[in-house]
Amino acid sequence: MFAQVIIDISHSKLDRTFTYAVPEGMSVQRGHRVLVPFGRGSKPVEGFVLSLTNEPPQDVMVKQILKTMEPYTVLSDEQLELALWISRSYHCVLVEALRLMIPAQLRGSRVKEKRVRTVILNPQADPKIMRESLLKKDGSPRSAAQLEIFDLLQRTGAEMTVSDIVSYIPGAQPAVASLIKKGIVLEKGREIFRRPYSGSVLQDEPLELTGPQSRALDTICSGLNAGSGVFLLHGVTGSGKTEIYMQGIKKCVNAGGTAIMLVPEIALTPQTVDRFRARFGEKIAVLHSRLSAGERYDEWRRIRLGRVSVAVGARSAVFAPLSNIKLIIIDEEHENSYQSESVPRYHAMEVAIKRCALNKAALVLGSATPSLSTYHKALKGSFRLIELNERIMSRPLPKVEVVDMRTEFLSGNLAIFSRVLHKRLQECFDEGKQAILFLNRRGYSTFVSCRGCGYVFKCPDCDVSMTYHKAEKRLKCHYCGNSAPVPEVCPECRQRYIKYFGIGTQQVEEQMKELFPGIKTLRMDMDTTRTKNAHNELLSSFIEGKAQVLIGTQMIAKGLDIPGVTLVGVVAADASLYIPDYRSSERTFQLITQVAGRAGRDDSPGRVVVQTYSPDHPAIQYASGHDYKGFYRFESAQRRAALFPPYSLFVRILFTGPDEAELEHEAGKVNEDIGRIMLETLREMGADPVEMLLNVSSPAPMRRRQGLFRHQILIKLLRTKNTSALLLKLYAYLDVNSTANLYSLEVNPGEMI
Ligand code: ADP
Ligand code: ZN
Repeated sequence: MFAQVIIDISHSKLDRTFTYAVPEGMSVQRGHRVLVPFGRGSKPVEGFVLSLTNEPPQDVMVKQILKTMEPYTVLSDEQLELALWISRSYHCVLVEALRLMIPAQLRGSRVKEKRVRTVILNPQADPKIMRESLLKKDGSPRSAAQLEIFDLLQRTGAEMTVSDIVSYIPGAQPAVASLIKKGIVLEKGREIFRRPYSGSVLQDEPLELTGPQSRALDTICSGLNAGSGVFLLHGVTGSGKTEIYMQGIKKCVNAGGTAIMLVPEIALTPQTVDRFRARFGEKIAVLHSRLSAGERYDEWRRIRLGRVSVAVGARSAVFAPLSNIKLIIIDEEHENSYQSESVPRYHAMEVAIKRCALNKAALVLGSATPSLSTYHKALKGSFRLIELNERIMSRPLPKVEVVDMRTEFLSGNLAIFSRVLHKRLQECFDEGKQAILFLNRRGYSTFVSCRGCGYVFKCPDCDVSMTYHKAEKRLKCHYCGNSAPVPEVCPECRQRYIKYFGIGTQQVEEQMKELFPGIKTLRMDMDTTRTKNAHNELLSSFIEGKAQVLIGTQMIAKGLDIPGVTLVGVVAADASLYIPDYRSSERTFQLITQVAGRAGRDDSPGRVVVQTYSPDHPAIQYASGHDYKGFYRFESAQRRAALFPPYSLFVRILFTGPDEAELEHEAGKVNEDIGRIMLETLREMGADPVEMLLNVSSPAPMRRRQGLFRHQILIKLLRTKNTSALLLKLYAYLDVNSTANLYSLEVNPGEMI
């Protein structure tokens, strides 16, 4: 037998298989990880077995596989196929795609299975004879401890851990060792799985679905039975989407299938995870970035070894090693976190579509605010649209009041809270309810500048302003971590007019304390959630009513279902509106709609106050009217007119280096070549050359980062049937013409900074 092995080293020269002989008596299958001698020195390296044959290769010199790394195959046939697709679609070497499928620490054996020492009575021997051997002629024990252990094991009749025995019989270890030596007790050793949960949850039964819910579920189930289909479940906040997901998953588990449930960021959605745990108990595994290496490895193995039917997790859980997948669900499908920002730059939705095709499974995309491109596909008929226009039990959507902060300012109110918000907060506390105050920022204030000359404090290594952190009384750069004290005088004009701009969560908290002494607040932002369980703990104490107000940034906008909350205050709605990105309106609309959706989810109706300096902006107007379709019509007309995605596609090629002139020269040349090649390709295909809408080379918006200059080529292509052929040409060109300063190529770049 011979195996085709791909070496686990990421290099374009090694992006092929090497033939190895399988030694006599070694069981190797496709999907095994193996250790093989590699290179001139035959250094042992890890690799993946991609195929096996009986044909001896032409080479005379074939080395032998040294060993298999795990007793089981780490990759299924389906995952191998998925990895091939990823390497083609996102243009990466195959090994990088394969690595997505396994926990990182598996490589290089950086994580071990956890075993506990357990023992049993020797089942082969006669208990009576064994016991007698422990007694002296007069019937007294030779060793009291040994006899006690023997009796304990006989009574329980089961395997026991040595530490359990010691807790019954203190200091029993030497006696256990003697019993093992005598062959009376056998050592077993048992593997245990580290579990990533804190606390237990109560068992939970499925709810009786409402009419709209059960129609939605029926439609999804028709897709399950047909073995395919992509559904967009567009349901307003609180319409009961999560209940539909859980019952859909239940159906496929009952039918012997498995399911994947993706959530944007698991640390931010502990409630969703708890709901799934309550419903599926031991049948689920949870995968996310905050797990320890051991927990991650063990959860992955529980899935791989077939012990669970449901994997819940963030983006990378789309690769969960389940077999026989029947359903994949992507909750809050509009979230950016589904796009990977490192190579391979995959999008979880695209991967899920491929996995569903390979498994004949159905895909459900859920959101109250679908991304424009997803909704566009649903309207075109590529995805099936399911709509839930009402909240559960016909609970009303919260009433939204938009406050113009300009008039507030002109009428003399310089405070963070408008009079309306102040009044609504008072009413909320009078009724004994809870409020959420949402702020689209981090830190105390966004930037610090001099009122005298306009000097803004910037990071010395990055082209961005630094942020003031009140707790440490220091300026910090959020891109590289540089920090500096705030000077008393402006370094530019030497005047003492340093001013802090913008509002931060800490400032809101202080204002709350001033205006409503005695009202307890909790703050949830980057600074208060550094530790592993911080989110969960803050959220639990809010749910338990230990505070009346939760103040937070983006991380409180999604997924929270807290019955006591009747008021949501959007303290500053505009922050994300003027970011120079074509998606800024869409993001602002989504954010405000989502955070407003946290109010009034129980019996008492909710209220939302949105404070803004641009009350007439369509994103704010449509969000306050809960009008997704209106926003979609408006925004897609804008995008069509400007030929922005989904009507076009952006590609950004980034160059970084210490010498800006060199970057400019290099990028200029590459840009020229690309322009020429793309036009040639379009002509060859008989397509219209205007499909190449734009290719420009210029400094990146953030011109310097961590001391290096940044220069970019921005390409904009009309989205047509030719787009993927053009991208392949682009990749092929860069493969051959890679330059020293070429940093990355991004298709659909996330943040374009
Ligand atoms: P969404 O995911 O659309 O925001 P959820 O699934 O969180 O909505 O449902 C909102 C609230 O309504 C939750 O508290 C949930 O327990 C409750 N709920 C959902 N479906 C039902 C139902 N069929 N009957 C009663 N309550 C329900
Ligand atoms: Zn910096």
